[in-house]
Amino acid sequence: MAETGSVAVLPWLVAPLRRALETQTAHALLLHAPGGVGQFELGILLAQGWLCESTTVPLGERPCGICASCRLVAARSHPDLLVLLPEALREGLGWAAPESEEGGEEKAGKKKPSKDIRVEEVRAAIALALTTSSRGRGKAIVIHPAERMNAIAANAFLKTLEEPAGDARFLLCTAAADALAPTIRSRCQAIALELPATEVAVEWLRAQGIAEPEVLLAGCGGQPQDVIALAQLGVDAATWRNFPGRIAAGDVSALRGWPLPLAVDALQKLCHDVASVAAGAAPRYFAAATLAGRAPALDTLVRWSAELRRFAENAEHPWNAELTLESLVEQGREALQTPRSAQRRGGVDSLHLRR
Ligand SMILES: [Zn+2]
Repeated sequence: MAETGSVAVLPWLVAPLRRALETQTAHALLLHAPGGVGQFELGILLAQGWLCESTTVPLGERPCGICASCRLVAARSHPDLLVLLPEALREGLGWAAPESEEGGEEKAGKKKPSKDIRVEEVRAAIALALTTSSRGRGKAIVIHPAERMNAIAANAFLKTLEEPAGDARFLLCTAAADALAPTIRSRCQAIALELPATEVAVEWLRAQGIAEPEVLLAGCGGQPQDVIALAQLGVDAATWRNFPGRIAAGDVSALRGWPLPLAVDALQKLCHDVASVAAGAAPRYFAAATLAGRAPALDTLVRWSAELRRFAENAEHPWNAELTLESLVEQGREALQTPRSAQRRGGVDSLHLRR
């Protein structure tokens, strides 16, 4: 990790952070980037930088990490910072909600954590925006992922964006700017983060203890935080290298224990790469050697891809995990093994999705 003051900063965020601190005066910023690149981290760092009370560290080098304000942010208890996250993401991002009676009830009822940012939470943020800053440096409200505000929440928020309230500044973080209402997008100053340079990402991943980081970084489309998420699920470089061969062999254990969205994502990448190779292009996610000899006909790949898209679009469906994984592997096996000459009907589309 690079450091700004004593705050850990993802190395590829150092320059965008400095630039934004030095140049941005808009009251609402839209930080957008591919997933796994750190737009949420940048949002928090910017908020911390704005709230930083250092008298010695220049603006572009904040947050200092040692002033009272920076320490309050680190302790997740700054009175002028509000972080809006779907309940389902809070813990993973290190922003678990403080214990509340409501939270207790939800836990007791074993309600599934919400994947949306709810309208009550947005209203609470708006209410905070209208109050006086506790520490005199204004207020910062980070919303991530901004597209998870549902339509009602987004509408409630729009009014605040239209008529900026007091000294509050908003940071909307997203990997899907297109999914945001145009009315919201147009009222924010946009900052686009690019994928980090491969060398920078590889070096950072190695420092995080990832062996052969190039393999998983390619597998994750260059998005380093996604590599960490994969590694936490026990997927290493060897797993990824062996993945095409195991799917082609119909080995269900290749996907066992994987969350369904991740399994579908990996299969979509495999399908993409096999199609690329069949079309004479270079694969993007898997090493060419691991795909050698897999060249199904285009119509087989088109059908496989359509089936995978159906799964991806219904990822929230309460599928029977084991049957679904078996079905996914079977589709992959059929698609990858069907020899060119034997491709007529049948193959992938003769299989029915099991629910
Ligand atoms: Zn500070």
